Amino acid sequence: MIIILNENTSQIEIEMLGRWLEDKNLRLSLVDGFEKKVYAIIGDTAQLDIDKVCSFQFVREAKWVIEPHKKVDKISVDNHTVIELENGTKIGGDNFVMMVGPCTVESIDQLSSVAEFVKSKGASVIRGGAYKPRTSPYSFQGLGKEGIDLMLQVKKETKLPIISELLDVRDIDNFSDVDIIQIGARNMQNTPLLKEVAKSGKTVLLKRGWSNTIEELLLSAEYVLSGGNSNVILCERGIRTFENSLRNTLDISAIPILKEKTHLPVMVDPSHAVGKSKHVSSMALASVAAGADGLIIEVHDEPQNALCDGPQALTFEEFDDLSKKITILRNALKLNKNL
Ligand code: PEP
Ligand code: MN
Repeated sequence: MIIILNENTSQIEIEMLGRWLEDKNLRLSLVDGFEKKVYAIIGDTAQLDIDKVCSFQFVREAKWVIEPHKKVDKISVDNHTVIELENGTKIGGDNFVMMVGPCTVESIDQLSSVAEFVKSKGASVIRGGAYKPRTSPYSFQGLGKEGIDLMLQVKKETKLPIISELLDVRDIDNFSDVDIIQIGARNMQNTPLLKEVAKSGKTVLLKRGWSNTIEELLLSAEYVLSGGNSNVILCERGIRTFENSLRNTLDISAIPILKEKTHLPVMVDPSHAVGKSKHVSSMALASVAAGADGLIIEVHDEPQNALCDGPQALTFEEFDDLSKKITILRNALKLNKNL
């Protein structure tokens, strides 16, 4: 971290700051040529709170030189984490994954029929929410543990990995056979939950909160990595802006920025970004073109009867069409390295 002091900072003040840093095993070092104004803080600054440094009144400015999320940062252009799931499915690097299924698990018939179909059209992970974070307490809240059991049944039937959202640390034991734990947008900064999924060692898909910056998303991921779990996938799912034509505004620019900053796989959820099925495919294709490592998409056998997020669910025909277009686009952009 680099700090710039006010012109009239006294030697006594500089020494006081020096002692304060020494207590934290850090050291002040004058940067030559700046007339006692510019100092570098040397040592492991990751644990240093920049706001506390700025609270010394003689500190005019403090700036990170190395980002405060060392573990998620990319160290070279070809530094990519590739996560391998139990059945060999790979996420990140040259691999592209589609995690597809209903917003919420409703019944075994509904889940199986969606899972079998999307599997036949290229999905490699089945999504389905059992614990649903609904805005209204009167909306369907999900089947809970029973929903996870139905997901596990479908995992057995399709032999595909599954992803489901964990809302509450008290339910984590129900996720021991779930391949990927989703941390939803509402919980991106729920730090006790982040620490707990870090301890679980399971693959985590971390969604960006709709009012969170890219920097905050990276710091949330850093919680999981610094807790000893490096199997983290980031997911852009739309943010809130002044534009209200759609549910959210998909921040496509987050994809290249994240891919530049971090080695973690970056996925996109176009369904929750737009909230309307007719716009899901165009945003999914735009995400592929922008370099996403995968997509998480909602599909329902009867969107008009869905218990949650029906308006944004793709029909079987729509998903079939999208899947074909993704293949064409990836081939055109020469993104399929194994062809
Ligand atoms: C979901 O994927 O089911 C979900 C609730 O998404 P988000 O957290 O992005 O709103
Ligand atoms: Mn949903």
